[in-house]
Amino acid sequence: MKNFAKSMYCTATLLLATLPSAAQTVPAAPPAAPAAPAPAPTTGLPNVVILATGGTIASSADSNTQVVNYSLSQTVNNLINAVPAVTKVANVTGEQVANTGSQDITTEILLTLAKRINVLLASPDISGVVVTHGTDTMEETAYFLDLVVKSDKPVVMVGAMRPSSALSADGPFNLYQAVQLAANPTATGKGVMVLLNDRISAARYVTKTNTSALDTFKSPEQGYMGAFVGGKPYFYTQPTQVHTTGSDFDVSTLTSLPPVEILYGYQNNAGYLYDAAVQAGAKGIVLAATGNGTVSTASKKGLADAVAKGVVIARSSRTGSGTVTPSPDDLKNGSVSTDSLNPQKARILLMLALTKTTDLNKIQAYFDRY
Ligand code: ASP
Repeated sequence: MKNFAKSMYCTATLLLATLPSAAQTVPAAPPAAPAAPAPAPTTGLPNVVILATGGTIASSADSNTQVVNYSLSQTVNNLINAVPAVTKVANVTGEQVANTGSQDITTEILLTLAKRINVLLASPDISGVVVTHGTDTMEETAYFLDLVVKSDKPVVMVGAMRPSSALSADGPFNLYQAVQLAANPTATGKGVMVLLNDRISAARYVTKTNTSALDTFKSPEQGYMGAFVGGKPYFYTQPTQVHTTGSDFDVSTLTSLPPVEILYGYQNNAGYLYDAAVQAGAKGIVLAATGNGTVSTASKKGLADAVAKGVVIARSSRTGSGTVTPSPDDLKNGSVSTDSLNPQKARILLMLALTKTTDLNKIQAYFDRY
């Protein structure tokens, strides 16, 4: 146990020292808080590690009534210290993997996070991991981790819609519940979960649906996986897609991911954006296409040129819910259909698929399975 606490703090220092440069950019961050002394672990409690990446949960504003236009201000130690009750639930240690708004989470940060989670969860001492994260792109990180974490142990993503300085800030209680969930054996084998506002969502299905409401996270067709009430989870549904230990993807030797861009479908759209993406080095293009993945004439021309240069196309939809069904023309056109994955999650899967193959049949099989 002592070794557990000690090694966690050493690792925190190491991770900060090796962060990619984007992760070191902390807008308006205060001087780093001195590392809190490691609390003496309580025998019998599960060990949970909190990996912090930034977001509103780690931000504050000038007044307690201000819930927009705030900046990053909190380190992982601040987040933990704000919720002393977590020490009754688990032996909690924190590591600062990044400190950024989630719009600036990079593929390098994703890889760092995934590799660290795999190391942590391989240890028999550790029961689960909580990731604090901005809500804007939380679903992308959650789905990425769902595809590459090699463990059945709980991984819980958590954030906040109100900064830590706000009246009724939601972060502290969300974090408390996330630690409870990560420490709960009934959360095993469920894939990566997102917990905010007393609701548990599956990484595969969840999406941010509202710019500012506390109940922003929804799974429009599939619903919540469960509720978190009275200190424990109540699970009702589970994703049917393969995840975590069932997934083929392995990030252990990866240092980058093939670039994949997203292009939007709309009336009278310009085909030259496809050329721009290809020229910039895109290996894949996801279409946030109209309706059930329909492609305009301008896009067809741009896509054909991209496919001729070896780029893989994935047809998703801008509608916000529903399934993009396969088209008999997909193979001929160099494209795949993305099932119910929204464009930002289809991008995550296409990047991982391209680490394995460029064969369209195999890539379509990934979209059918994951
Ligand atoms: N801008 C924030 C982010 O980092 C929003 C949030 O965390 O709620 O995603």
